[in-house]
Amino acid sequence: MRSLTIDEQEIAPGENRFLELSVSRLPSGTPIHMPVHVFRSKVDGPTVLLSGGMHGDEVNGIEIIRKFLDSKIGHQLQCGSVIAMPIINVYGFINFSRDVPDGKDVNRSFPGSPEGSLASMVAHTLTHKILPEIDFGLDFHTGGASRTNFPQIRFAPNDQLGAEVAKAFAAPFTLHSPLIAKSFRETAKDLGKSVVVFEGGETLRIDPKTVSEGMDGIRRVLKHFGMINKAPQQMHKQHFFTRSTWLRADVSGLFRHRKASGKEVKLDQTLGYISAPDNQYSVKVKSPENGYIIGHNNFPLNHKGDALFHIGVKEQGEHLNS
Ligand SMILES: [Zn+2]
Repeated sequence: MRSLTIDEQEIAPGENRFLELSVSRLPSGTPIHMPVHVFRSKVDGPTVLLSGGMHGDEVNGIEIIRKFLDSKIGHQLQCGSVIAMPIINVYGFINFSRDVPDGKDVNRSFPGSPEGSLASMVAHTLTHKILPEIDFGLDFHTGGASRTNFPQIRFAPNDQLGAEVAKAFAAPFTLHSPLIAKSFRETAKDLGKSVVVFEGGETLRIDPKTVSEGMDGIRRVLKHFGMINKAPQQMHKQHFFTRSTWLRADVSGLFRHRKASGKEVKLDQTLGYISAPDNQYSVKVKSPENGYIIGHNNFPLNHKGDALFHIGVKEQGEHLNS
């Protein structure tokens, strides 16, 4: 049976443990800790990380992991271990912000450094205290700014285990997403670990559909790896996209969408309108491809070049095979 050690504390098979990883202090002197809940079966199996709140305002992921903790699934593992971390970026969470207080993005600060910026310290804690212990991870996010994402799983092309996890999760949408430099996923890959990202909903808003898709997906993944006995059936078709493209505004003005995330769209179909407030001009926003809307912008005031729709595209003959 392999050992599991976090922050120099060994957690024995069959043991559950709550740990707090020390990060730093607020200017007030208040200590900041990252909460970590560890659940271990007595039987060998995969070690799975469930992480939320890497971006502090992306509350759906935090709620999904809170629901996982409330479900007591961690206490019923048939094999393996789960490490559940509801809030990675506590600083962002208490400031209702994506970033840490100096404006840096934790998810662009990996692998991090103990002597670096605050975001770099948070990243370093995950890289050195958590990543070495896991086999794979599910990292829960939402759309940034005022953009919302339809529930979806993203994994890197050529990531075999990531593809298996994505398929088992069975979100409504699954897509290839290349690794971003200095991201958590990139550092995980460098350490030979697989981290896939769940995206759903938007910042600072709990979306019940996203939360239930996230919870159902966690249960299907744990069942797939023999860690639990029961999981909800996938009730929908699982669409797989090999690439995605952003549709940006041709003009500035008031934006109204007529099609929302989750919908299938055809080339040149009208998805929304942009107009000058005095109606001097009004233009149609048309789909550049056949595909599905995987995310859209809810903000009505837009500049030319702003991202309005994220379209997932299926390539002929490409399937999600693990
Ligand atoms: Zn995010």
